[in-house]
Amino acid sequence: MTSTASIPFIDLGAQRRRLGERIDKALLSVVDEGNFILGPQVRQLEEELATYCGAQHAITCANGTDAIGLPLMALGLKPGQAVICPSFTFASTAEVVAWLGAVPVFADVLPDTFNLDPEGLAVALRTAREEGLEVRGVIAVDLFGQPADYDPIEAFCEQNGLFLISDSAQGFGSVYKGRRSGTIGKVATTSFFPAKPLGCYGDGGALFTDDEEIAATIRSLHVHGKGSDKYDNIRIGMNSRLDTVQAAILLEKLAIYDEEIDARQSVADRYREGLGDRAVTPVVMEDCLSVWAQYVIRVEPGRRDFLQAHLKDKGIPTAIYYPRPLHQQTAYRDFPVAGGKLEVSDRIAGEVLALPMHPYLEENDQARIVEATRNGLSANR
Ligand SMILES: *Cc1c(COP(=O)(O)O)cnc(C)c1O
Repeated sequence: MTSTASIPFIDLGAQRRRLGERIDKALLSVVDEGNFILGPQVRQLEEELATYCGAQHAITCANGTDAIGLPLMALGLKPGQAVICPSFTFASTAEVVAWLGAVPVFADVLPDTFNLDPEGLAVALRTAREEGLEVRGVIAVDLFGQPADYDPIEAFCEQNGLFLISDSAQGFGSVYKGRRSGTIGKVATTSFFPAKPLGCYGDGGALFTDDEEIAATIRSLHVHGKGSDKYDNIRIGMNSRLDTVQAAILLEKLAIYDEEIDARQSVADRYREGLGDRAVTPVVMEDCLSVWAQYVIRVEPGRRDFLQAHLKDKGIPTAIYYPRPLHQQTAYRDFPVAGGKLEVSDRIAGEVLALPMHPYLEENDQARIVEATRNGLSANR
């Protein structure tokens, strides 16, 4: 008899059971100590995060969106200037550019990795210049946990005098040719939103840089543009801090993060073995390590809805990341699009389907997902 009990898409409960008392103790100690804002756990987490990825400076903040917005402020992005970013991503990547009155210029991605197509960057630059825009930088995204192809992206940025920000909200812990997420780009960022690979119990984010001056500016910006203290305001800033409670939780989660990444890799390996001959499974570039924030397969657009309904019927939740690329969204459709058309982004939005992925996915549950997916892909509709 096959079970139809529901399988969670992401099982935070399993991790909670594993960490058990350690989280309770961490929470209680913050409550007892009462240092709710920028308590000692925040500084300790920043030190451990910096050590983990090998960055000189780690600065925590309120969420992964602010983590990208703060460096744009520190880099002096001005209204009317442009930043190139992928269209096939979560809204934050482009949102922060528009916050500052600047212009996101959307570039296309590669179908097998879902990340920026380095060759599309030149097209984006040309489009922006044709519209009379001054391009300042590129925001690359480590979508679904895999690093973008940074060697050619960095070369392009260097050649054209552009800054590079690595939006690694989904990719903290990933490795690009020996380099860890957090050490790539002028500034790298991440998110601790609960469903991200390293998530807390609310909103949270962090950014990383080796640049002393940028780090100092961001430390000021994220506490109201403070100077020598918070009642000395030397620039217009914002309030974007990680709560001490979240830092205490993250310290416990960071301690088991490498094991969790290994477990995610095993889940990804089993999906590839079970589905590789039926669906287009994700490709990880050579010498790179994904942290598998999502496991996203591609299926013919005509079959995706059927497959999703079929899996739902079997108690298997799936998700579509992302149903529409940003350049097709109401809020973003008037911004420039590289070469006038993003063929890959438009196409894959109709093909992607994310399967349950988390470090505690049991082998028998995964076997059920694989079997149901195979059946759904071969069934007559
Ligand atoms: C989640 C996410 C963000 C934003 O993180 P929040 O903590 O939710 O603000 C930014 N970029 C990408 C690619 C994301 O997936």
